[in-house]
Amino acid sequence: MDLFVRQTEHNVNVCVVGGGLAGLCAAVAAARRGARVALMHDRPVLGGNASSEIRMWVCGARGANHRETGIIEEIQLENLYRNPAGNWSIWDTILYEKVRYEPNITLLLNCSCNQLQMDGRRIRSVTGWQLTTETRHTVRAKVFADCSGDSILAPLSGAEFRLGRESRDEFGEDIAPAQADKKTMGMSCLLQTREMSTPQPFVPPAWANVYRTDDDLPYRDHDVSQWQTNFWWIELGGESDAIHDTEELRDELLKIAMGVWDHIKNRGDHGADNWTLEWIGFLPGKRESRRCVGDHILTQNDVRDEGRFDDIVAYGGWPMDDHHPAGIRYPEEPTIFHPAPSPFGIPYRCLYSRNIENLFFAGRNISTTHTTLSSTRVMATCATLGQAVGTAAAIGVTNDLSPREVGQERIRDVQQMLLEDDCFLPGVQRDVSPLSKNAELIASAGDTDPLRDGWDRPISDAYNGWRADAGNWVEYRFASPQRMQNIRLVLDSDLNRRGVNCPCSYPLHVEPRRLPARLVKAFRLDARQPDGSWTLFHHEECNRRRLVRLPLEITASAIRLTIEETWGGEPAGLFSLEVR
Ligand SMILES: Cc1cc2nc3c(=O)[nH]c(=O)nc-3n(C[C@H](O)[C@H](O)[C@H](O)COP(=O)(O)OP(=O)(O)OC[C@H]3O[C@@H](n4cnc5c(N)ncnc54)[C@H](O)[C@@H]3O)c2cc1C
Repeated sequence: MDLFVRQTEHNVNVCVVGGGLAGLCAAVAAARRGARVALMHDRPVLGGNASSEIRMWVCGARGANHRETGIIEEIQLENLYRNPAGNWSIWDTILYEKVRYEPNITLLLNCSCNQLQMDGRRIRSVTGWQLTTETRHTVRAKVFADCSGDSILAPLSGAEFRLGRESRDEFGEDIAPAQADKKTMGMSCLLQTREMSTPQPFVPPAWANVYRTDDDLPYRDHDVSQWQTNFWWIELGGESDAIHDTEELRDELLKIAMGVWDHIKNRGDHGADNWTLEWIGFLPGKRESRRCVGDHILTQNDVRDEGRFDDIVAYGGWPMDDHHPAGIRYPEEPTIFHPAPSPFGIPYRCLYSRNIENLFFAGRNISTTHTTLSSTRVMATCATLGQAVGTAAAIGVTNDLSPREVGQERIRDVQQMLLEDDCFLPGVQRDVSPLSKNAELIASAGDTDPLRDGWDRPISDAYNGWRADAGNWVEYRFASPQRMQNIRLVLDSDLNRRGVNCPCSYPLHVEPRRLPARLVKAFRLDARQPDGSWTLFHHEECNRRRLVRLPLEITASAIRLTIEETWGGEPAGLFSLEVR
């Protein structure tokens, strides 16, 4: 044994490798559902492509009211509250605290997983090198979740994986190429810019590429007026090895990025005289590499059929946004947006390995074809896939079931827990507690029936909730005093709101971002005692959650929620009021 290297062992129920949004949500979901979790992540900050190291925007399903909820919504709302200027470092701290201060999670940052020990077809443990402490961490667990993007656990364990594009014939996908190949979408180093009050010169390094005229950057929007979008098209690597060539590709991407900025500043008028380069990414953000193979491979045809699976545990809804593998070297449109319905269901069988018995995966590496990955890869989708995996993993360790057995025996439990935790599963209704169902439900105004219909967001034309101005109340009345253990509220956080991500360009004058005007900020909960008197048992003054769950230990003949204030003065919305 090397005397200078420390060895540390951790024994947990669930080990997650990779702390992008998928891994983060998997770890938090499993921990909140009672599992002991270790999250091994090779970077100093969490969030993967959404972290300050890469700065990609979290996108998800398109269309009215399709925003992803659950843990990702909790994070986004907290970020709006704490980070009005859209600062990437503050965003990092919010992701960090979600994991670091979640009881039940051992967080191993700066720890790169590079070894694995097997027991037959099961993973016994994984080992990673923590560069800040010269420590080798070994994590033993019952189940493992590969959320590393590149699927590091697949080559280490022998889990089946795919890489590259399937042929059109293999799955009958008409947008796939005629011949299969090993090409992928590329990787990118992004730029971030800031407007100043005076002109800002830029001197390019000698090694920057030269783009003399706009014709050298065809179809790549780069005027200041177009900076509502970012520089995602500084892309390369789809024709190389998306894993082993990354360092060389980084060098090329930096040449391109500096060359693009030189072009904007010094070669023609792009409206950028007062703009300066604030930041450049040195860690390429990856779009595609290994995809693990599960019991089902999700295809373009599943997507087009809206993914109506019995074992749906998440959904997508981004178009099939298939970037050309040549990236910036391709002189035409860099991507094609093939339409996809929104939402489309993603089945549980895409989230665990076909041949390794205790391996889950979540994120861009789930079991899909290349064409389908071009939609499922967006990060709000990845986050909900992670939450599904974490929830299923916790159910599996509690009941001693493998990932496949969870799907065969407990899929309804997985779905109901996800709904309970405020995820949306198209077509699956949440069970409402008998106590809520059987009580009388009344309010100071409006129709209260939707509050116990098991749908917690607007769907098509149905609002599925109760809307009321501040000052209004809603109340459950029971035939006799009832003992209650908890109350669950789902509040309207405006699922159609825009501008939640930290920006890619910072103009001189920007309005601070705010929480949704209709989200309830202050409310009170009162209980009617068996003697008929009312007592306040909870007062919230600064709520910023959509899902509010409070433990109760009370016996009451009625319980009343009064809305006191919303964040922007709009009428409040409530989708669920439930007592148990
Ligand atoms: C330039 C670019 C633009 C994009 N545009 C968008 C967009 O606008 N909106 C959107 O939603 N999505 C976008 N995507 C796609 C999206 O960012 C990815 O598909 C998504 O990040 C995948 O999430 P993930 O959690 O699976 O992986 P990642 O975000 O890559 O996270 C995985 C993490 O695992 C870590 N890891 C890897 N190997 C190991 C190891 N051996 N040990 C420990 N940890 C490890 C990595 O450091 C990484 O942080 C874009 C991607 C790129 C590159």
